[in-house]
Amino acid sequence: MSPLIANCNLKIFNNREAIHHYLDDIRSSGKSIGFVPTMGALHAGHLSLIEAARRKTDFVVCSIFVNPTQFNDKKDLENYPRPIEDDLRKLREFKCDVLFLPEVDEMYNSSEFWSIELDNLDNILEGRIRPGHYQGVTQIVKKLFDTVQSDFAFFGQKDYQQIMVIAYMVRKLRIKVKLVICPIIRENDGLAMSSRNVYLLPAERLQALALYKSLTLAHELFKTHSVKQVKKKVNDFLESCPGIETEYFEIYNARTFKPITSKRAVTMIALVAARIGKIRIIDNMYLNKENLY
Ligand code: AMP
Repeated sequence: MSPLIANCNLKIFNNREAIHHYLDDIRSSGKSIGFVPTMGALHAGHLSLIEAARRKTDFVVCSIFVNPTQFNDKKDLENYPRPIEDDLRKLREFKCDVLFLPEVDEMYNSSEFWSIELDNLDNILEGRIRPGHYQGVTQIVKKLFDTVQSDFAFFGQKDYQQIMVIAYMVRKLRIKVKLVICPIIRENDGLAMSSRNVYLLPAERLQALALYKSLTLAHELFKTHSVKQVKKKVNDFLESCPGIETEYFEIYNARTFKPITSKRAVTMIALVAARIGKIRIIDNMYLNKENLY
């Protein structure tokens, strides 16, 4: 361990009440709190959120919790990577102040029901393919927001629909937190970083690039073609890619999160999901913003 890492204090809490009280003291000292919820297996995408929180706020809280209620596939939950020692090292290196690391029974009673109206955002795209997923996401995020009560919470654009769903919940329940959307961090060849990428076999890892390519193609075509033409050409491209089982490629109004059929003076976003072998990959890109990072 480098001396830098050894010197950084990362306080770890497993208990809701304990972290809540600790953060009360931080708040009373006048410090702003930034919160980064994750499921661990931290990569550069997660760490960019910690960095953004460090830039914008005085005190950074990260949570690692593999939330069972948002998994509609039991095998996916069982197999989800949990390299906690590695995660702790990274959090220290990136000077996170506090980690909330609860067990499942700290967050859930055995008999618990959660149902929140989400303006149909939970039934489209990811929600259609993963029924119940966004109910599980909002359930845990509400509990985490209540526990941490941060001024800001940082989320990756990678899970764009998740941000739309959480933003809706925050407005609906009048939760006092400001959401910050951070850019997608990609591998050098363009693949969006994801904790599940480690499960791609070498050949699948190459095939997975088709998603990023489909988005850059959409971005390019969008300058000269209609929405309908872009969708047709990109779907044709995806169909021609070996190993890719496309689930959806759609173009949405980035603010209302409704499908668009013709170009408008609003920010538009292309969203894609596909299966490659046993792994699902999602990605997205704004079409009328220069964001080809
Ligand atoms: P997860 O651990 O998958 O629940 O993700 C935790 C947070 O990290 C979410 O806000 C994600 O959107 C964000 N995130 C995941 N991958 C990336 C990425 N490649 N770039 C930026 N943020 C990401």
